[in-house]
Amino acid sequence: MLLKAVLAVFAILAAVIVYFAAATEVFDMTSFPVYQKSDHYDPETRRFYDAVPMRSPGGTGAKLLRMVFDEKAFHPEKPLPTVRPDFKSFMAQGDSFRYMWLGHSTVLMNLGGTFLMTDPVFSDCVSPIPIMMHRFQKPAASMDEIPLPDAILISHDHYDHLDRKAVMYFAAKGVKFVTPLGVGERLRKWGVPEGSITELDWDGKAGIGGVSVTLVPARHASGRGLFDADRTLWTGYVAEKGGRAVYYSGDTSWGDHLEGIPRKFSGVTFDAAFIENGQYDESWPDYHMFPEETAKAASFFAPARFIPIHWGAYPLAVHTWNDSVKRSVSAAEKLGVKPLVPKIGEIFDSSAEPDRWYE
Ligand SMILES: [Zn+2]
Repeated sequence: MLLKAVLAVFAILAAVIVYFAAATEVFDMTSFPVYQKSDHYDPETRRFYDAVPMRSPGGTGAKLLRMVFDEKAFHPEKPLPTVRPDFKSFMAQGDSFRYMWLGHSTVLMNLGGTFLMTDPVFSDCVSPIPIMMHRFQKPAASMDEIPLPDAILISHDHYDHLDRKAVMYFAAKGVKFVTPLGVGERLRKWGVPEGSITELDWDGKAGIGGVSVTLVPARHASGRGLFDADRTLWTGYVAEKGGRAVYYSGDTSWGDHLEGIPRKFSGVTFDAAFIENGQYDESWPDYHMFPEETAKAASFFAPARFIPIHWGAYPLAVHTWNDSVKRSVSAAEKLGVKPLVPKIGEIFDSSAEPDRWYE
């Protein structure tokens, strides 16, 4: 234990040095534009904010220590069952909506021939200081096996959603990105071409193929370092085609905005709602929803299927790997919402029947 503690201290020091040496993205935040027109941005502090301010995390010390020294307690005992992705079938043309979950918040959607991917993250670790938050589940496919999407939707800049390597890989192939305010600026500073980025505020819309993509509110936070908290915006997405839509929550805690989102899409039916579920804790109650809140949020969309995401790859909290999904599935069923928990890599649509493989 002592040796582990000493090693951890050294690892933290080394990581901090490397981090400060490498993280120019942290220090040039004042070179970001001032987003005068956004009504959830303070031009004085140059930070975005939530309508209902988040409570600061409290009592996190002991939990973070457990996540460093007892990380395995939050991993599954053996690898999760995965399906080798059949991209040929996934990419087949047609009017249907088809999906594939690659773990955590990386979702592939073929919406009647338009291929979207959310928050592609393939890293072995999603902590800025690499002493915790290690991937316990290998990605079902490597980046170069994935057909090139028509667009990648980025929800916010936390490491478990914005993987610089993945961004640069797909950017080099000419893939387009849709981002909330500030995240596009980050991408430009990394070298993603201007013409590949559509950077929008909430309610902003982008047309991708025949699909209309709208940024919708979330209650969360952002930042990749010590000094860049909330300099960039966080968002969810609704992708709609021909009266059928998909909701992707990004990261969000509970709030009135959740009930408000589907109201903005009257006359639209939600084929699928991919909603964050996992990595919650009473010490950071306003960063993520508790599973029962996730289920309630799903009910607002009345989706053909509710798919819990933000779990199944990285331990970012002190609950067991399947606690969140067991709880949200049971809560959803009580609310009359049909949950679906696909295996990682599996192709599914909204007619798929639930399989309780995670129990
Ligand atoms: Zn986040």
